Amino acid sequence: MDSYQRTHSCGELNAAFAGRQVILNGWVFKLRNHGGVFFVNLRDRYGITQVIIDEKASPELQSTAAGLKFESCIAVCGTVRNRPADMVNPQMTTGDIEVVADRIVLLNGCATLPFMIDESETQAKEDLRLRYRFLDLRSGGMQKRIALRHQVTFAVREFLNGEGFYEIETPTFIKSTPEGARDFLVPSRIHKGKFYALPQSPQLYKQLLMVSGFDKYFQIARCYRDEDARGDRQPEFTQIDMEMSFVSAEDIYAMTERMMQHVFRKTMNIDLPIPFPRIAYADAMNLYGSDKPELRFDMKMQDFTESARGCSFSVFRTTAEEGGTVKLLVVPGAAEAYSRKKITELEETAKIYGAKGLAWMKMTEAGPEGGVSKFFESEAAALAGQYGAKPGDLLLFVADSHKVACTALGAVRSRLGKELNLIDPTRFAFCWINDFPLFEWNEEENKWDPAHHMFTMPKEKYLATMEQNPGEVIGDLYDLVCNGYELASGSIRIHDPEIQKRIFDIVGFSAEQAEEKFGFLLKAFRFGAPPHGGIAPGLDRLVMIMSGVDSIKDVIAFPKNNVMASPMDESPSVVDESQLRDLGLILAEKETGQ
Ligand code: ASP
Repeated sequence: MDSYQRTHSCGELNAAFAGRQVILNGWVFKLRNHGGVFFVNLRDRYGITQVIIDEKASPELQSTAAGLKFESCIAVCGTVRNRPADMVNPQMTTGDIEVVADRIVLLNGCATLPFMIDESETQAKEDLRLRYRFLDLRSGGMQKRIALRHQVTFAVREFLNGEGFYEIETPTFIKSTPEGARDFLVPSRIHKGKFYALPQSPQLYKQLLMVSGFDKYFQIARCYRDEDARGDRQPEFTQIDMEMSFVSAEDIYAMTERMMQHVFRKTMNIDLPIPFPRIAYADAMNLYGSDKPELRFDMKMQDFTESARGCSFSVFRTTAEEGGTVKLLVVPGAAEAYSRKKITELEETAKIYGAKGLAWMKMTEAGPEGGVSKFFESEAAALAGQYGAKPGDLLLFVADSHKVACTALGAVRSRLGKELNLIDPTRFAFCWINDFPLFEWNEEENKWDPAHHMFTMPKEKYLATMEQNPGEVIGDLYDLVCNGYELASGSIRIHDPEIQKRIFDIVGFSAEQAEEKFGFLLKAFRFGAPPHGGIAPGLDRLVMIMSGVDSIKDVIAFPKNNVMASPMDESPSVVDESQLRDLGLILAEKETGQ
């Protein structure tokens, strides 16, 4: 084997190597036979090199070349030579040269491929890609993204180390503590009937590390949440988990911004402008109808409620009079492109978010036309002046409760951003969303829930009276948003056991429950816990956004599919009776039809 060991990679050779004897190892990517002259594109992680087996090759070598199959793993011994001028390929790093083979050794053949390995993306259904993930990962796109993920992770470590953070691992077998989602449980064999939980995040441990005085902590942490399969979710995902002592939210904003700047500069050579804009939650809802606004295009929503109050269109008028909201979106220049049919499609989007309808009109030189315009004929001046509607603009309205009007029209805004190509795909538009409510009302259970988690500090001015109206309490918490995705959440934490108890009370956690679930944290807080706060940017999301793809599966080496299974290794799987017996478990229910 030694004599076939590579001397160079497949991405390394150029004209400076002409005349050199080399050995390359890699995979057969492309194969061409031009009347007895064979061209093999040999690929490894570093690139592709053209190998040529010409007429002068021995019959043995010729027949090896003729028998090569795609994706076989081979060693090529040969001489580098400059390509003839008309064969130079400026697209390839190795495009000036080729390697004239004098020996090819088959290191391992390749079975029939389920799909071709592509220079960019595998052209196959997701299930097949995941079944053969080890092959899918050979595609150019996956190789690039996994490489970027590594570089991002490395840049994060480099930055945080430079800032004096310690990387500290926290356990993956922990006590089951409520943190918003459902826990994955691991039965204990030694303590029958007891379970460990896999952490939904290292939240409590990072806070304990602050109590221990470590001051600045981070961890590239795997988090586990047993949620229903919906959207782009994975049961396990990775966070850049951070916590700092003696800080305010300002310090966390600044540290996170500089970290993002470092990561983008190091991995993509992009200079992110900082500080990132900040938008209060209420403004984000009012202007964009979302707490994760897409800021790569402007087109803000406007409030039409006051104008609706006196108008002759009864739907608007009653909504305004009954305390609801009428939201308006002026879509510049879209009047012509949006036929009645296309507006109905937009309405479908609004309805998904609970709107009863989407009212519209078009602005012309002669005033508003179409849709609900007949009620607003005399309002042309106000529409133009106050709301900035110009001839050729499409005006869209949702009248409903404040929440529905904002989110439904916000969803229409997002859709229009894509349909009208308003989004520059090369941009990264970051922002902070802050001033979130600390609690949200849980309609089903008729109680207050923590909007983020239970360890978030209320803003100081609400401290004295927060029990009186929990719905009004604003928390010291913040989200980092980029290109319409929530990239991170964080907060300043409660470090005072008394305040913590009051929060537990408001969310309906009895003293006994709190003691049972979080006793260790409350105890630790009694031993000189420092004020502290943190944040946890999602690594998968970050790399996904940076790569310009829209699924985190495309940046995770071995993800689960949409039903939380892995077609490759067939997990989850049944286990032996004896394994269950060891754990003291008897199954009450099994998935059928398998
Ligand atoms: N543990 C939190 C989360 O997973 C992040 C944080 O507050 O630092 O959302």
